[in-house]
Amino acid sequence: KSAAGRRRVRFFEPQAQEVVRRYLNLHADLLRALERGEFVLHYQPQVDGSGRVRGAEALIRWQHPEEGLVGPAEFIPVAERSGLIIGVGEWVLDSACRQLAQWAALPTSCDWVVALNVSARQFAQADFVDQVRNALLRSGAPARQLKLELTEGLLVDDIDDAVLRMNALRQMGVGLALDDFGTGYSSLRYLKRLPLSQVKIDQSFVRDMLNNGNDVAIIRSILSLGESFGLEVIAEGVETADQHAFLQELGCAAFQGYLFGRPQPAAGLTSLSPNGI
Ligand code: C2E
Ligand code: CA
Ligand code: CA
Ligand code: CA
Repeated sequence: KSAAGRRRVRFFEPQAQEVVRRYLNLHADLLRALERGEFVLHYQPQVDGSGRVRGAEALIRWQHPEEGLVGPAEFIPVAERSGLIIGVGEWVLDSACRQLAQWAALPTSCDWVVALNVSARQFAQADFVDQVRNALLRSGAPARQLKLELTEGLLVDDIDDAVLRMNALRQMGVGLALDDFGTGYSSLRYLKRLPLSQVKIDQSFVRDMLNNGNDVAIIRSILSLGESFGLEVIAEGVETADQHAFLQELGCAAFQGYLFGRPQPAAGLTSLSPNGI
């Protein structure tokens, strides 16, 4: 080994080497998973004020041959860093649109809206709007029943460009939700410029709202912002009937959380009663 090679090896702490090794392994595994079709989408119901299912959020999982079902927190960050999120994101878009087309054809679920998560790198691609248009065309899914969940993170690079893309998507009829609202820095400054249809109250606020007045104050202001801007506000992470009741009292009219249903394979949702829970 050359002196430089030895130096480089010594430069990494053993722990850091381990982290790098695991990263590279995971990257290779993810690439294989994409090729082999090991990703699946689960769907979590979103309900209105009367408990009626209005649609679902698509959430990716990895059906790992040995380790079983792996959640997105375990692999999405790596996919984002390595650029693999582009391929994964295209798969999510196609798969969710195909599911939407199926639901749109059934009498009990024909007006459901399917929401999917878009990562910053995916959104930043020059042809992202075309990807969405093509996925809709290929699947025959109605654009008005597709919603993209965006985070503030994807606005920081070039907000003017982001707004142009968002406008193009809205013109197609696609809905846009701002995810994890309230957790970023500049929500308010951006909000007035963005052609959004919905904001999602982050689950961290819902989790503690019953013991934390500050969280209630934040939820109240998000709801009143929604009202002023004409945006639907949905609360996520609703787990208990008490949280639900309190949110309703505050004027919230759309909900998502374990109380109404866990993320589950599409078939489980299809069989939900159309008359609410
Ligand atoms: P998110 O978009 O904020 O999704 C909500 C997360 O909260 C989901 O976790 C969901 O299972 C979980 N959740 C729903 N209801 C409750 C509840 O009542 N209580 C609690 N404690 N949690 C609840 P999940 O499925 O593990 O997804 C984690 C994150 O991974 C998502 O956060 C999203 O940022 C990302 N993600 C998931 N699917 C995709 C995808 O297809 N593409 C991209 N780019 N990111 C994705
Ligand atoms: Ca989301
Ligand atoms: Ca969220
Ligand atoms: Ca989140």
